Amino acid sequence: MTAPYTGGCQCGSVRYAVTTEPIRLLACHCQECQRQSGSAFGMSMSVKKDNLTVTGLTKQFARSADSGNEVTGVFCPECGVRIYHVLASAPDIVALKPGTLDDTSWLRPRSFIWMKSAQGWVSVPDDVKTFERQT
Ligand SMILES: [Zn+2]
Ligand SMILES: [Zn+2]
Repeated sequence: MTAPYTGGCQCGSVRYAVTTEPIRLLACHCQECQRQSGSAFGMSMSVKKDNLTVTGLTKQFARSADSGNEVTGVFCPECGVRIYHVLASAPDIVALKPGTLDDTSWLRPRSFIWMKSAQGWVSVPDDVKTFERQT
């Protein structure tokens, strides 16, 4: 796969395009990502904010992370699907939720973080680096 990459929410009112290759891709097993995704872990695909174009109305939700950093989640107000989040400490980078891409077949996380709270059944592929907490 090569850029641009397109994606959107479940109801289709929010759409986006990423115009360059992602900076990194990881799976986060922290409890906030489990709660946010309603699943086992969250995936984050980091891209430069300038390389992301979003169309459609979005809403925001901010919370404090364990690190003390403020995290702002951006989501579709109609269907509730999270599109990306931004850290207050790195406002130029957005962490896109890559499960919202139209084609997810090429995704391959390089690292798993927050393994200390990973669900017990999760196994780690050979080429994936693990971290007990943050990278
Ligand atoms: Zn939607
Ligand atoms: Zn997390």
